[in-house]
Amino acid sequence: MAPDSRGTAPGTRPAVRVLVVGGGYVGMYTALRLQRALRQRLRSGDAEITVVTPEPYMTYQPFLPEAAAGSISPRHVVVPLRRVLRDCKVVIGEVEHVDHDKRTATVTTLATGEDGTGAVGIAYDEIVLAPGSVARTLPVPGLAEFGIGFKTVEEAIGLRNHVIEQLDIASATRDPEVRDAALTFVFVGGGYAGVEALAELEDMARYASRYYHNILPSDLRWILVEASGRILPEVGPAMGRYVVGELRGRNIDVRLETRLDSCERRIVQLSDGSRFPARTLVWTAGVRPSPLLAATGLPLTGRGRLRCTAALRVEGVEHAWSAGDAAAVPDRASAEPGAETAPNAQHAVRQAKVLAQNILASLAGQPLTDYRHRSAGSVASLGLHKGVAQVHGRAVKGYPAWLIHRMYHLSRVPTFNRKARVLAEWTLAGLFKREIVSLGSLEHPRAEFEIAAGADPDPRRPGGAGDRARPGDGPSPDDGPPTSSG
Ligand SMILES: Cc1cc2nc3c(=O)[nH]c(=O)nc-3n(C[C@H](O)[C@H](O)[C@H](O)COP(=O)(O)OP(=O)(O)OC[C@H]3O[C@@H](n4cnc5c(N)ncnc54)[C@H](O)[C@@H]3O)c2cc1C
Repeated sequence: MAPDSRGTAPGTRPAVRVLVVGGGYVGMYTALRLQRALRQRLRSGDAEITVVTPEPYMTYQPFLPEAAAGSISPRHVVVPLRRVLRDCKVVIGEVEHVDHDKRTATVTTLATGEDGTGAVGIAYDEIVLAPGSVARTLPVPGLAEFGIGFKTVEEAIGLRNHVIEQLDIASATRDPEVRDAALTFVFVGGGYAGVEALAELEDMARYASRYYHNILPSDLRWILVEASGRILPEVGPAMGRYVVGELRGRNIDVRLETRLDSCERRIVQLSDGSRFPARTLVWTAGVRPSPLLAATGLPLTGRGRLRCTAALRVEGVEHAWSAGDAAAVPDRASAEPGAETAPNAQHAVRQAKVLAQNILASLAGQPLTDYRHRSAGSVASLGLHKGVAQVHGRAVKGYPAWLIHRMYHLSRVPTFNRKARVLAEWTLAGLFKREIVSLGSLEHPRAEFEIAAGADPDPRRPGGAGDRARPGDGPSPDDGPPTSSG
């Protein structure tokens, strides 16, 4: 048999095999740093880095609200892993469980379902567990059926299409109830994901409404529901209060100390007793660690994060490492005893750097470094030209904060290529009018052809001809939530 493209002769085992689970912030940056340090060994086949990830790209999540608003194209919010990690093996799949005693991970790949051969085992010497987090949901009736998440680029673009589609429905219907439900947008959770997504989409929808002959901006009803007494805790209490005032000034109904009790049949019921129909319910009420962690047999905290040392090693376990949203890392910069680093990108990127250094140090038999970082602050965008920031204890708001937000994220988005493309898009957006079309039909690209070819429409088959509304179909308040699109 011929050697593979990296020069490894068949049957020869690399001296060190690193398995990275997840291609997000931690996964990509850890693999990138290891790749730089081990380049010669990777090319000669003496070392191997395998990255297992469900998508072939890393998502720059802080740009999702702007992608939803149409200020940045979806493909510029993601970083292609195969291009960045040229000397690593990128496997598109999901780790199902890990047997760390045997140093093996069980992986289902895209091909698993096709060839019917079942999951594959990937052997490793060092494992980096970076599967991040998933939406933290509650058993609210109707949430699973009608709620829309906001963690992936598919969800952000699906939500954009859905919001614009609601304006089209409201404009076309003669039923005032359908119109009210279409023009009511409810966001649950006042963290930066929820607040930024709501603020950007409200801004975009208000702008889009000027192109509808029968919709006024004041017809749109936006509601932010937050269980605690404040929003955006990351920017501090004073700035949080400022954001509440700013959103209310835009006619956004901010309801603090309020919970979503039910959204069955698209009727939203809140803990303050109010009840109203809404066709859009976005759930951004926090995250919980990836469920994969429970299938690793490694020590977890009560909240399900991997118990780690400050050196980012899984506590009491050799050759297993973690960081980011999946890991409970002691916060050495906090005076509070037992504090853990918060699940955010600031920590994830910096932890990935220390994590890669520590793997290299451990391979070389050198001492490990502890992770320590004091947050420099937080920035949030509240729509075009509006923002809020807390930088080294200084509060900034309005246009300057929005500029800081843009500059900060432009400096942070990975690769020069992405930075240039994002900057070009922002510049073009400043020169031309905003895009206001919904490309919701991208979600079912075969529907038109299936109808033309006379396929039997099957409403139960996603993407089938029957999945798409036909002329004469009225908008139904019972329609399901949007699915993902590219
Ligand atoms: C809308 C939004 C806006 C945000 N804005 C900010 C911000 O402004 N500032 C900030 O600091 N933070 C922000 N965050 C938080 C930040 O994005 C996360 O803290 C960060 O992504 C965590 O990095 P991670 O590597 O731990 O996880 P992720 O980046 O989520 O990566 C996890 C990866 O693991 C993969 N994976 C999951 N399960 C498996 C499996 N079984 N097998 C293989 N791979 C798997 C996932 O597909 C993903 O690729 C935002 C988050 C969201 C959702």
